[in-house]
This record gives sequence, structure tokens and C-alpha cells, in this order.
Amino acid sequence: MAEDLLKKIIAHAKEYGFVFPSSEIYDGLGAVYDYGQNGVELKNNIKQYWWKSMVQMHENIVGLDSAIFMHPKIWKASGHVDAFNDPLIDNKDSKKRYRADVLIEDHIAKIEGKINKEVNKASKRFGESFDKQQFIQTNGRVLGYQEKIDKINEQFKSALENDDLAGIKNLIEELEIACPISGSRNWTDVRQFNLMFSTELGSVSDDSNKIYLRPETAQGIFVNYINVQKTGRMKIPFGIAQIGKAFRNEIVARQFVFRMREFEQMEMQFFVKPGTQKQWYDTWKERRLKWHQALGFGSEAYRFHDHLKPAHYADAACDIEFDFPMGFKELEGIHSRTDFDLSKHEEFSGKKLQFFDPEENKNYVPYVVETSIGLDRTFLAVLGKSYQEETLEDGSQRVVLKIPPFLSPIKAAILPLVKKDGLPDIARKIMDDLKFDFNCFYEEKDAIGKRYRRQDAIGTPFCITVDHDTTSDNTVTLRFRDSMEQERVSIDSLVQRIKKETSMTEALKKVESNTAQALV
Ligand code: ATP
Repeated sequence: MAEDLLKKIIAHAKEYGFVFPSSEIYDGLGAVYDYGQNGVELKNNIKQYWWKSMVQMHENIVGLDSAIFMHPKIWKASGHVDAFNDPLIDNKDSKKRYRADVLIEDHIAKIEGKINKEVNKASKRFGESFDKQQFIQTNGRVLGYQEKIDKINEQFKSALENDDLAGIKNLIEELEIACPISGSRNWTDVRQFNLMFSTELGSVSDDSNKIYLRPETAQGIFVNYINVQKTGRMKIPFGIAQIGKAFRNEIVARQFVFRMREFEQMEMQFFVKPGTQKQWYDTWKERRLKWHQALGFGSEAYRFHDHLKPAHYADAACDIEFDFPMGFKELEGIHSRTDFDLSKHEEFSGKKLQFFDPEENKNYVPYVVETSIGLDRTFLAVLGKSYQEETLEDGSQRVVLKIPPFLSPIKAAILPLVKKDGLPDIARKIMDDLKFDFNCFYEEKDAIGKRYRRQDAIGTPFCITVDHDTTSDNTVTLRFRDSMEQERVSIDSLVQRIKKETSMTEALKKVESNTAQALV
């Protein structure tokens, strides 16, 4: 069912110009995708929503656009050369390669699925009087499943903490996890695999010229910490935000744009006084969750997941998980990175990366709280929740993308009812007026109903239809995507009306309202 939805979304995204497989005429390239004419607009709007919310809304957060290529020592200092690994395992029969940790996580998700089934069954049985919390805490079967999950987690955590690859393999064998392709349990040993892509700088190919494609944008921020702090005269606490490409040679690249080898991140590093990081970590958890919730997909679509084993640099870390078509998965990471990165760069570069705190009258290396979200995963999240198949009153079907209007690729489609009687001229004039404020689309071809369906399928919130009445009274039909209702409005009111309904302001205000800790 869920897999079906993902398949439908992939097909829809291709058919309507959102996402194409990369190099398709050469049969594609694994886990690399291109964004089409509508995809690029949606992606740009998501970027803008993030950028405005992080940079424009905060006096003490500024932007950066650092290069993808960086000095190779950076990746030594950050720990990526030595430790940016995933544990991989091969099935000897299917020859398919898997991430060992993901096999275990999927197994846990299956048991969670069984708990959910019990909960759903009971909730149907008990109706209104059903107390979910009480059921979970007392039902024998659910408790049994939960015990299993806790036991696996305990073993898994201990294997991860001790870098015990044999222990991870043992767990896979104990849980009798089989390869989804061959169905066999004929596994190789678990090995570590470094995820960074490398290339050579300049014309001579030898190891000293080896550089990496950045696997995260964060390091570009750290190595510019002093530049930005000094030139922007920034005072702690302050943040640096960046949107950019990152590259990872993912072992198992699947699930569409969820896991790609080339993808985009939106990251913000918030530099704070040592000792205050826990407070800022909580503040950013709250703020980022609000940013997601302001999209209107319902709070039950998100949950926090604390890391069993925070990365080597973190003293606390969690993910915001989203209810994707294939289940709850990581959408964003929030990490309290201590002073690890700046201290390491001090050590490897020999330069001071500190802050003189006038209140304390001393220098220190700031601590960092990071928020790191995948742009492509946000894109998939938006598509996943917006995609809806509806049966209309007349029995016909429509597919509609109920994208939050401020993110929609096209805000208004301008459609003359017929191709004659001067209607196209009026429609063209409306288009020429609106195009300064909105991304619009003009179309004359096909019956109006068919044109509406095409706009529904790409999530256009408004269709403006010019008909014969327009020639006499200067009004048009404004059709709403979600309700399909139509309203007669004057041409002169269009700009204001569409502006109001497609503005990002309301969402931004929601993120800003009632936050526990002011940022400035
Ligand atoms: P995962 O555990 O799913 O591999 P991660 O924990 O390695 O992700 P981070 O290093 O925390 O991810 O990266 C921050 C964000 O970047 C993630 O929350 C995700 O949204 C995005 N991201 C990471 N890897 C990919 C990828 N291969 N394709 C698309 N987005 C990605």
C-alpha cells in the first residue's frame, strides 16, 4: 500500500515534470535525479521558505555560500576520512549490497508495524472509550513486541558503540533477517565503507592532489567561522546558514530522492557559549519542528528520534522523522556538536578560531548546535502528503497535489475559455500583469475541464478563466484547486487576492510565534 503510493508519486513526478532519472536516455545513473520544470520551482520555494525562516527572520543568523571543493585536510580534521563509514553487508546469493544498520532498523520497523496493527484493531473494538496509552502499557502482545524491540536496540547499541562489526552480523543472523531479493540468509561479513567521493585537483594525478566532494555543507561553515564573525561583527550567540550540494557514495541508494548520491542540504550552525548548548539544542528542536508543522501536514506526521549513538562529535543528537510514503524516516538532524569541529580545525590549521566574550572578559572556542535538513527529502515529504486521488461527485477521478500554496510551482494558470472572440488577448494581458508577482502559466488548448485537471496535478492553487462575460464586465472566474469552487472576481482584484493566499508570511509567523527562547 505504502510502497504503491511511493511508486505512484515517482510516476507522477516524472509525468508532470517534477523529477526525472538522471541521464535517462542512457538508461539512467543510480540514485541521481534531475529536477524538471515544476520540480525546480517547488525546490526553490522550499529553499526560500527555509532561508527566510532562518536568515531573514533572525538578525543574528547570516548566510554563506562556500565552495564544494575544499582543502583535503579539512576532511582529516573533521574525522570524515577516518570515520565517515557505513557498515555494509552483501547477500551471497542475490549479490545485493545492504547497509547492515538499515537491515536491523527495518526489522525493528516491522515489529513496530505489528504494534500499530494491534493498536488499530483495539481502537476499532473499543471505539470512543479507547485509551491508546493504557493499551500500549498493558496489552500482553504489545508488551511482548516492545520487549523484543528493546532487546534488539540494546544489542544494536552496544555493537555500534564498540564498533563491533561481528556483533552486528551476529544480530542479523540471530534475528533471521533474510535478503528481500533472494530470500536467503547467506551473508558476508560486515565491512566499513567510506562514503566520500574523491577526485584529483590539477593535471597531475597523484595522492597529494586528492580532494573530496564535500559530504556535508557544515565544514564550509566552520572554516569560515572567523571570516564571518569578524567581517559581520557577530556576537555569540550567532548562526551561519548555508544551502548547497553534498555528495555521498551511498551503499544502498533507493527510495527515490530520499537517498541520493548527489543531494542538497540546508544547514545552520549556531555558535553558542560553552555550557549553554543544551538550552540552545532544545530551542532549535522546538523551532525546527514548528517550521515543519507550519506546512500544515498535521503534527502526527512528525516525531523526534533520539540517537542511540550520537556521532563522534556530538553530546546530544536527534532526528526529526517524517511519515514518508515508506514509513517514518529521518528528514532533519539536530546535533549539539560541542566545540569538536572548531577545536579540530584549530589543531589542523594552526589558526585561532575563538571568540572574545566581553562579558566574561576571555576567549573561548564556541560550542555549536546544528540543524541539518535534506532539501530533497523535504521535497519528497511535500509531494508525499500533497498527492491525493479523489473521486468527484460525478464519479470521475482526479489526482490533485494539495501543496501549500506558497510552495506551489505555479501560483495561477490563466485560461481563455475559447481561442477566439478576443478572449486570448484579455487573458494575455492578465498574464502580463500577474507575471511580475507570481510564476504563472498560460494555456489555450483543450477543453477547460482538462486544463483544470492538469493544473490540479501540478498543484496550481488558482485557475483564472476568461469567458465571454469578461469582455463586458471585466470579471473572471477564479477556481480554487482544493475545493474546486469558483468565484466571480474583478480582474483588478487578482493581484491582491492571489498575493494574500499564496504568501509565505503566515507560515513564517507561525514559526516565530510563542517560542520559548528569543534568539536575539
Ligand atoms: P541517513 O541516516 O538517512 O543516512 P544521516 O544521518 O547520514 O542520514 P545527516 O548526515 O544527519 O544524515 O545529514 C543531514 C540531512 O541530510 C539528513 O537529515 C537528510 O535529510 C539529508 N541527507 C543525508 N543523506 C542524504 C542522501 N543520501 N540523500 C538525500 N538526503 C540526504
